[in-house]
Amino acid sequence: MKLQDKVAIVTGAASGMGKEIAELYANEGAKVIVADLNIDGAEAVAKAITDNNGVAKAVQVNVAKQEDIDTMIDTAVSEFGTLDILVNNAGIMDGFEPVGDILDERWDLIFDINTKGIMRAMRKALPIFLEKESGVIINTASTGGISGAHAGAAYGASKHAVIGLTKNTGFMYAQKGIRCNAIAPGAVETNISSSMKNINQFGMERARVAQGVIPRVGQPEEIAKVALFLASDDSSFLNGTVVTADGGWTAAF
Ligand code: NAD
Repeated sequence: MKLQDKVAIVTGAASGMGKEIAELYANEGAKVIVADLNIDGAEAVAKAITDNNGVAKAVQVNVAKQEDIDTMIDTAVSEFGTLDILVNNAGIMDGFEPVGDILDERWDLIFDINTKGIMRAMRKALPIFLEKESGVIINTASTGGISGAHAGAAYGASKHAVIGLTKNTGFMYAQKGIRCNAIAPGAVETNISSSMKNINQFGMERARVAQGVIPRVGQPEEIAKVALFLASDDSSFLNGTVVTADGGWTAAF
């Protein structure tokens, strides 16, 4: 029970990594706000948690809207009394275009969700954390935020920005008892990556071209375990850093 009585918000929690994070946090004793644009999916995850004797509430949020973010965080406080852990995991992987082909609307949409959505949620949560001088923030980046070779221009730039924002937030609030770290997953088998043809074949192919890479894609529960580590006191000396969970892919280059 590493998160006993902690209150956590997980965005993008209706599926994939967010779902696994929400369920693992609840198993570890946290009260969880299951936040997602897809409210049916969020409600199904919250029901699975409560059926398993956990505590959860689903909230519909579009992280591109400040009023939705405000409602999400206010709901954590009104339902569960406070907020201890904010996991900014919602994101879209839309388009693999290089910069020469990018459309303004596509760029703006990807940044509005992947990067600005995180800024909005941190900005709203920080007064709560500052008042009690404690809080943990975890932002989902990507290996596309570390390397230029993993994604299109807008997605890659949006995730590089997530890492920059994470470092800056860690730096700015370290002396206020607040920690902010990021996870950079490599290819993980979720709804997002299922748009890539035959995701497991993709993992094997990457292992063939880069010897030393774990020869498969990741599973969302493997990322959830990293998110548990970062949320718990086990990571008490980690701040403003990025945990790369990619089977060794970025290390191999
Ligand atoms: P997923 O599609 O299973 O989950 C993403 C969730 O985010 C969905 O439930 C979706 O409804 C929600 N969402 C999308 N836009 C939203 C919005 N505007 N407001 C609120 N919720 C919204 O995919 P996933 O792979 O679990 O993705 C989680 C995060 O991991 C994303 O930030 C993604 O960029 C990142 N990521 C994924 C991979 C991968 O290979 N799967 C690799 C690196 C990083």
